[in-house]
Amino acid sequence: KPVVIITIGMAGAGKSTFVQRINSYLHSRDPPSPPYILNLDPAVANTPFEPNIDIRDTINYSEVMKQYNLGPNGGILTALNLFTTKFDQVLNLVEKRAETVDYVILDTPGQIEIFTWSASGAIITDAVASTLPTVVAYIIDTPRTTAPATFMSNMLYACSILYKTKLPFILVFNKTDVQPHDFAIEWMHDFEAFQAALAAHQGTTDEDGEPTYMNSLMNSMSLVLDEFYQHLKAVGVSSMTGDGVKEFFEAVEASREEYQNEYLPELQRAR
Ligand code: GDP
Repeated sequence: KPVVIITIGMAGAGKSTFVQRINSYLHSRDPPSPPYILNLDPAVANTPFEPNIDIRDTINYSEVMKQYNLGPNGGILTALNLFTTKFDQVLNLVEKRAETVDYVILDTPGQIEIFTWSASGAIITDAVASTLPTVVAYIIDTPRTTAPATFMSNMLYACSILYKTKLPFILVFNKTDVQPHDFAIEWMHDFEAFQAALAAHQGTTDEDGEPTYMNSLMNSMSLVLDEFYQHLKAVGVSSMTGDGVKEFFEAVEASREEYQNEYLPELQRAR
């Protein structure tokens, strides 16, 4: 059975470049293993890869905007909603290919919250995850997450997606050619190192000698984040050079097991 990789990331994190990179990696692997690619972004102008199923083939995003008198975000959300009503047919197509492909890649809209916080996003995620082993790949712009406070908000966002989907989760620290991700690994493994970095950046007390808001927030968040870090895998990747892509697929294979051993039994119990 193939694994479905749902790629999610803030705009600019390098999601499109990442999908292109893993696509070409799989094509050039020995033996080649071309993935089945679904594009769910109705507003993307052009993708650097050829999707097998493309939301843009059935839904014209600018027509949707005009017809329903919507702005860009409303247009994307409505297009995704319309597409979701036909998602059973999409899943049938994917299932037909399940015998012949090893990976299915789901590329989500560039505006991350449209997928992560919409009913359609939840419906699509649940439908896929109850059919095939599924993993979430959360793409992070590593050079832009070196400030401790930014790092924390990024991790909290990832955390909220993990607890919403409950699926195996891979943090993909992208752009390691510009900024190695070792600082992130250190902060995840050693909470005190992270707090020290935060204090160095923000100070621990305000001008009256009281603990800063950020400092006390961090102290109370520490247990939540520690628990969160234990539930995920982290890899560093350069979508530009291809560095780390092999390790990414090792994490995907480990996630396949995690899906079988943890997600699937939970799903069957819920039924
Ligand atoms: P998306 O909005 O998340 O789909 O991001 P894109 O794939 O369009 O990438 C945003 C920008 O980051 C582009 O200028 C890419 O060339 C650049 N980028 C993406 N991945 C990498 C990487 O691994 N290294 C470097 N140096 N730049 C990258």
